[in-house]
Amino acid sequence: MRIMIMTDIEGVAGVSTPTVDTSPGGSNYLISKRLLTEEVNAAVRGFLKAGATEFLVFDGHGPGAIDFETLASPAKLIQGRPLPPITWLIEHLSRRVDAVCHVGQHAMAGIRDGNLNHTQNSVEVLAYRLNGRPIGEIAQFALLAGEFGLPHIFLSGDTAACREAEELNPRVVTAAVKEGLGRTSALTLNAQDARALIEKQAERALKQHLAKPIPPLQWPGPYVLQKCFLHTEIADSALGASRFSMPDSHTVEIRGETIAEVIYQ
Ligand SMILES: [Zn+2]
Repeated sequence: MRIMIMTDIEGVAGVSTPTVDTSPGGSNYLISKRLLTEEVNAAVRGFLKAGATEFLVFDGHGPGAIDFETLASPAKLIQGRPLPPITWLIEHLSRRVDAVCHVGQHAMAGIRDGNLNHTQNSVEVLAYRLNGRPIGEIAQFALLAGEFGLPHIFLSGDTAACREAEELNPRVVTAAVKEGLGRTSALTLNAQDARALIEKQAERALKQHLAKPIPPLQWPGPYVLQKCFLHTEIADSALGASRFSMPDSHTVEIRGETIAEVIYQ
């Protein structure tokens, strides 16, 4: 069993403050990278106990946030910037993976109790909707993986991110390592307890999946992705391709027959 671990930094225990904790140059950023990496290592330990053998860790936070030297064996790291488009990467690597999960994930933009909630660009995006349904980064990745036949089996993050994952698929196993008190504050587990919880839940997720496989997340097409931006010039600049339109001055609409055609456009 081979697992791809998509990582982000905003859903990690002990990471709660924008910039200071989440951006290169922030006074806590190097600590945040280590906290994320140790949560990834905890997930690897849990999955190993359940029988997984290979791990592709996707360094998903914008500037990269995995502390390479402390990433545990036998994980391999997808790293570098800029990365190839994620749709190409997932298609390219899908034959080397059997299931996907998230570690350190946050809720979609606009969720009040989602600590560090955002969707992709934290200062520009108000909301994404896919076929009328609000989505965030969790659905983006789970649906793309699902299109290539890969089930989304586990997520760690704050309680709002866990809830969002469970709403997409009630059988996903989650590990809530902190509660958002607001967008820039959280009640967080200590690092040791967060890692222990992730390890236990990752093991449980894979054991449950092996006993009764979770199907890949797939919604019926065709697809219309609406991206609503705070400022109109962002929407303006996204125009130009034939599948794009602008239903109002803040919104770009992208149409496609497949998830890959729309979800990270
Ligand atoms: Zn993110």
